[in-house]
This record gives sequence, structure tokens and C-alpha cells, in this order.
Amino acid sequence: MAFAQRIDCMECGGDAFLVQPPGDDEPVEAGDVLVYRCRDCGQRWDVVVDDEDLDGS
Ligand SMILES: [Zn+2]
Repeated sequence: MAFAQRIDCMECGGDAFLVQPPGDDEPVEAGDVLVYRCRDCGQRWDVVVDDEDLDGS
């Protein structure tokens, strides 16, 4: 999978993890929204996938 399982929380700098990873039968495409939640402060982040995310490693 090319998209991140975790991101840096933009609020506190902690780890924000995918709330509901897409299933294998639901390929992530550009324009899809992935929801992350910070384990430290609880902030929710909705991240729109773009082509750049999918092309990366
Ligand atoms: Zn946070």
C-alpha cells in the first residue's frame, strides 16, 4: 500500500493512525478520503488522497 498508515498530527506532532484502513477489495484512488485520528490529542484528520500519494513508495 502506498498511502500512509500514520501521519504526523498537525496539532500536537503526535502519531495519527488510520481509523479504518481500506479493505483489499477497496483500492484507494485519488480523491478518496482517509480518516486519521491522533492517539495523543484525539484530533481527527481527513486526508484526500492524490496521485502523488499513490505513486510514492
Ligand atoms: Zn495530536
